Amino acid sequence: MEKCRASSRILIVGAGASGIAAATRLLQNNFGDVQILEAENRIGGRINTIAFGDNVVDVGAQWVHGKERNCVYEMVKDMGVVSDTGDFFSDVKRVRSNKEVVPHDLACSIHDIALRSMPSGPLPVVGSFGNHLVETYWRNIESHLPRVDRTLASEALDAFAKHESSIIGADSLFEVSVREHIEYDECDGDKLVHWGTKGYKRFLRLLMKVGEDAPEELGLLEGRVRLGKKVTKIELASPRKVIVRCEDGDYFEVDHVICTVSLGVLQEQHERLFVPPLPAAKVNAIRGLTLGTVNKMYMEFEEQPFPKDWVGFFCFWLAEDLKELRKTEYFWLEGITGCHKITCQPRLLMAWVGGSFGRHMETLSDEKVLEGLQWLFRKFLTFEIPPPKRFHRSKWFSNPNFRGTWTFRPTKADERETGPRDLEAPVTGEDGHLGLLFAGEASSRNHFSTVHGAVEAGWREADRLIRLYSTCGSKS
Ligand SMILES: Cc1cc2nc3c(=O)[nH]c(=O)nc-3n(C[C@H](O)[C@H](O)[C@H](O)COP(=O)(O)OP(=O)(O)OC[C@H]3O[C@@H](n4cnc5c(N)ncnc54)[C@H](O)[C@@H]3O)c2cc1C
Repeated sequence: MEKCRASSRILIVGAGASGIAAATRLLQNNFGDVQILEAENRIGGRINTIAFGDNVVDVGAQWVHGKERNCVYEMVKDMGVVSDTGDFFSDVKRVRSNKEVVPHDLACSIHDIALRSMPSGPLPVVGSFGNHLVETYWRNIESHLPRVDRTLASEALDAFAKHESSIIGADSLFEVSVREHIEYDECDGDKLVHWGTKGYKRFLRLLMKVGEDAPEELGLLEGRVRLGKKVTKIELASPRKVIVRCEDGDYFEVDHVICTVSLGVLQEQHERLFVPPLPAAKVNAIRGLTLGTVNKMYMEFEEQPFPKDWVGFFCFWLAEDLKELRKTEYFWLEGITGCHKITCQPRLLMAWVGGSFGRHMETLSDEKVLEGLQWLFRKFLTFEIPPPKRFHRSKWFSNPNFRGTWTFRPTKADERETGPRDLEAPVTGEDGHLGLLFAGEASSRNHFSTVHGAVEAGWREADRLIRLYSTCGSKS
């Protein structure tokens, strides 16, 4: 008997933004049997808002990146729940490792040159972002700032490249494809739209339609999310069914699965997770794309230790200091782009550490990380930063349910001629049944790496099922 929306069994793996977006869309379109299995003991995935300091901090996604063509912003723009941050990073001080603060106007002029040197317009199909940036930067310095001190310009380029790497999530810009900025459709408008004292979690509550006064409820998803359920096998079986097995021995027979796990989880587990093995094109995409690592470190003080006129600082390493640093146990501090204040949290400081350095930081104890941060502050600043009274840092790479933070397009994706489109493609069973669908930020063609990309991907796959059942929507 032909199944209809009310009776078709749909199982979503992962209760991150993508899984929640897919589930709520399906439920709002009369699908009756929708469940989510989530390995963690909480929903949200890479959205993780925790109580800290005077209200909350986001250990994962923090900002809505842009307003135009951004489905998250579109959904909340008239609700008064988000605010612009403005041009925050342009006010951050550039401090050299000899404690010298680079004059603001000079720092801005060099920064403008670096921004102008980013890949744009018609570009070669293969090539690295890093090569393009370095070559164009020095050409632009020659033509627009010929008298600038080359040592300072070099420190500025290193700091800029490190900041860009951490925005992209890469270990180094030399592994990033020159096409990253062309494939990614940057949404116009403020890039740091924030959630005030509520954090990004608020968005999930809006998606699930949870009322203001219902602290831990799941709204539309009440009774449909199973936490602590790690999926270990997804089998496309015949006729027309999918069997999903969990680590605790539980199993489910369903009609369709939407898999939203991160690219890192797919890379580590796809060979044992899927039966039969995934098609070659999808494996090529899983191997060809990269999930980067960028970690956050939050420090809470009795009172704000930065001067009033300081938003934060970026580290400009003198070549000789960097050479020395690399010989010490604090070598990982090279991965820290800088340290800054946070909107709505007057007593906090936050630092980012990216790439292989960020992965190394995860292996250290809190004490060692704090010792390193104190060393960094003493190296760069003329004033004292006391030890924080509380500290929290993320460890996204060591968590087997994530294995990193967000995806980017590396040069190897160009060489393998693959991309998110291959990750997105659904997999059918032997009988042609549309059993296995893929969502998650990494499968977004032009908004990968973001929450809005994850949500669009969840909606995309929900819509695929809605179309599949378009002729029998209201029947049970
Ligand atoms: C530190 C950090 C900062 C970020 N900052 C921003 C930002 O400011 N703005 C922005 O737009 N984006 C940001 N992002 C990116 C954004 O958070 C992600 O792109 C988005 O949340 C991904 O959602 P998703 O649903 O695709 O994946 P996930 O959130 O990873 O959801 C997948 C879920 O699957 C679960 N899972 C994994 N394996 C299994 C299994 N075997 N069985 C069952 N469940 C499983 C995981 O636990 C997870 O909950 C940031 C991310 C991080 C980590």
